[in-house]
Amino acid sequence: MLELQGVHTFYGPVEALKGISLTVRKGEIVALLGANGAGKSTTLRTISGLVHPAQGSILFEGQPIHRLPPEAIVRLGISHVPEGRRVFPGLTVKENLLLGASNRGRVPRSELEADVRQMFRIFPDLERLQDALGWTLSGGQQQMLAIARGLMARPKVLLMDEPSLGLAPIIVQQVFHVIQEINASLGTTVLLVEQNASMALRIAHRGYVMETGRIVLEGEAADLLKDPEVREAYLGGR
Ligand code: ATP
Repeated sequence: MLELQGVHTFYGPVEALKGISLTVRKGEIVALLGANGAGKSTTLRTISGLVHPAQGSILFEGQPIHRLPPEAIVRLGISHVPEGRRVFPGLTVKENLLLGASNRGRVPRSELEADVRQMFRIFPDLERLQDALGWTLSGGQQQMLAIARGLMARPKVLLMDEPSLGLAPIIVQQVFHVIQEINASLGTTVLLVEQNASMALRIAHRGYVMETGRIVLEGEAADLLKDPEVREAYLGGR
């Protein structure tokens, strides 16, 4: 469904991606793991068109997308939930959700309302908080809102950058549970960037490990969880 082939991305003179090749199949959750600065966020930013690769190609459903602007990529069905949540602080929860659908052009109000109700079924807290302003939400609630807003674009693929960052362990569990539920019940394909390797591999089908701009390891999530190198480097050697 999504295929990166030999992707090189630069920030000025800095080569952040040094030939990344990876595949995400329809219906999968794929985890992208690695230490700080390995290039995980840059991989997502390159897919969503925020930066363009200097070399290599990105195919989505067989079509090259690596020269398209971000708006065109969202319209094709790729939605990016960036690191740090970024909900609009001065807008209500419901207004934040409705903005998530802005890529879809003119949609009947009834259809948008139905999608908002579906988000409230997946994220019951957001229904209770629908009139609350973004800034009043806790970190976990903001993360749920950021994910729900990404889903309002009705993406085929959701790119998620560190959804567990800065959240308490119990909330992290809820976030991972909801990612699994979205994948199972809405059929949304997910590419998940995480520092929390063990949690990510528990819900993922497959995973890739990055180091300084390259993929150094890939495999089935269950195999990566057992891999001594991965355990040593990313799971605290347990
Ligand atoms: P993190 O978890 O810290 O976000 P990451 O694996 O996502 O790490 P990236 O953020 O993709 O890594 O960064 C990859 C490399 O590119 C790093 O060396 C980083 O310093 C560099 N980099 C990232 N953003 C920029 C930028 N806007 N300008 C210059 N260099 C950048």
